[in-house]
Amino acid sequence: MRASDLLGPQGPLARSIEGYEHRPSQMRMADLVERTLGHEGVAIVEAGTGTGKTWAYLVPAILSGKRVVISTGTRALQDQIMERDLPALRDHLGLAVEAVCMKGLSNYLCLRRYELYRHAPEAATAEVGKQLRVIEDWRAYTETGDRADLPLPEDASVWAHVQSGPDTRIGARCSFFEKCFVTKMRRAAENARIVVVNHHLFFADLALRGDRTAGGAVIPDYDAVIFDEAHQLEETATLFFGASVSTGQLERLARDATRALVAAKDGSPLPEVLRAAADAFFLALPRLREGNDRVPLEASHFSVGSAGSAADFTRAEPVVERDWDGATKAPRPAPDLEQRFFALDDALEALGAHCRVVRGEDESLAQIAKRCGQIRDDLGRITEAAIGHSVAWVSRRGNGLALGISPIDVSSILRKELFGRAAS
Ligand code: SF4
Repeated sequence: MRASDLLGPQGPLARSIEGYEHRPSQMRMADLVERTLGHEGVAIVEAGTGTGKTWAYLVPAILSGKRVVISTGTRALQDQIMERDLPALRDHLGLAVEAVCMKGLSNYLCLRRYELYRHAPEAATAEVGKQLRVIEDWRAYTETGDRADLPLPEDASVWAHVQSGPDTRIGARCSFFEKCFVTKMRRAAENARIVVVNHHLFFADLALRGDRTAGGAVIPDYDAVIFDEAHQLEETATLFFGASVSTGQLERLARDATRALVAAKDGSPLPEVLRAAADAFFLALPRLREGNDRVPLEASHFSVGSAGSAADFTRAEPVVERDWDGATKAPRPAPDLEQRFFALDDALEALGAHCRVVRGEDESLAQIAKRCGQIRDDLGRITEAAIGHSVAWVSRRGNGLALGISPIDVSSILRKELFGRAAS
């Protein structure tokens, strides 16, 4: 059966949907998608509003019998495909469509972190206790562990402490692995033909596939990928094929380390040492001015000329007196950025080594040690990359700052990691 048989004026959709509109441009698009899925290669389609693009790729994807990943620009479009388009096609065409929606890991409850947080001293406040009770009830009946179904406000503070994430997930060695919501979601995806993701998850997964040390992909292997709102790809790819280290990430690491060490009855001050070293380092980076969310680290930030590398920022001239948000502070001695960088690296190394020693059977501590190593690697990548191929930058992230590096041109990365990997 061809997609045009189903979408055309004599097809089952025209017969069963009242007011069904036959659209020649939709048929042309469906035909191109069908040929590309059948013969491999790349197709790019630009089509105006009202073409019926979603069905023009969904119908050939369903008929292909291949595992096809549909990647959307937004979670709203993911929901629309799962809740409106696929059920409608299932009903009107009478086709079995095995489809699964995968969101970023931070959308799912992590049972291991939930258990750790529940028993942490800082969770013993009335407000946190109230939110934890809601989660306790919810986790007994939720099938997905998806935050979208949790009956708590969007900004409930407790979620940050119990969500899953690429840097906190342990995987098969976790004692909750079999009951884990992320495990269930991945298994469901392995049995599905259509996997609906968003660009952020798709590129996070692609970056993991390219990094043998990172511990495996999230999305199961696929034959083809279809990007809806593909004009956003360059920006998303740039984000995920760079590296960054943020104040929030270091704060979460220090917090999780404290919690895991307390649970192991270890009162080490090393998480506090890390906090102080991170604060000192980020306070010494070039400032962001009012209304300016990101500054590239350019030659003017370095003590050497423009032919230097991002590593030179560790030898930067002393920067002005200020706070993270750019507020001017009373004059103080110029910070020594290089020393602060090494102090942060030492603090990460010491915390990682300590967690490995205390660890025993405790996978949470092994996970902290691994995160320390990953952040050190990222800091190394950021400071060692040559400026000619990438740009180093400082940017706002949430209430804090991030230091990162981004490739200037993602075309060769996309050719190797994306077009070289999926057949269509
Ligand atoms: S497997 Fe990962 S996400 Fe699942 S409970 Fe364990 S640590 Fe959390």
